[in-house]
Amino acid sequence: MALGMSISWCAMRKKQRRCDRCCLYYSEDLKQCHHCGRLDDDQLEVLLKGHNMGLSNSVTLGRCFIVIGLAVGGLLLFVL
Ligand SMILES: [Zn+2]
Repeated sequence: MALGMSISWCAMRKKQRRCDRCCLYYSEDLKQCHHCGRLDDDQLEVLLKGHNMGLSNSVTLGRCFIVIGLAVGGLLLFVL
């Protein structure tokens, strides 16, 4: 990516703040976190469990893509 494009991308992106309560990011324009601002502690725990489950699913999917990429790369090296 060109440096000018990167700088303009950063300028266009809204600034975000990390929530102290749920550790997720939200826009600095908002007064409170839109993820957890209206949740009590039990609801926050459910939110964080779901978020962590989503993260672990993403990690698993990423590992699958790495294995598939290695297998395809190995096949290409074997064929060529
Ligand atoms: Zn939050």
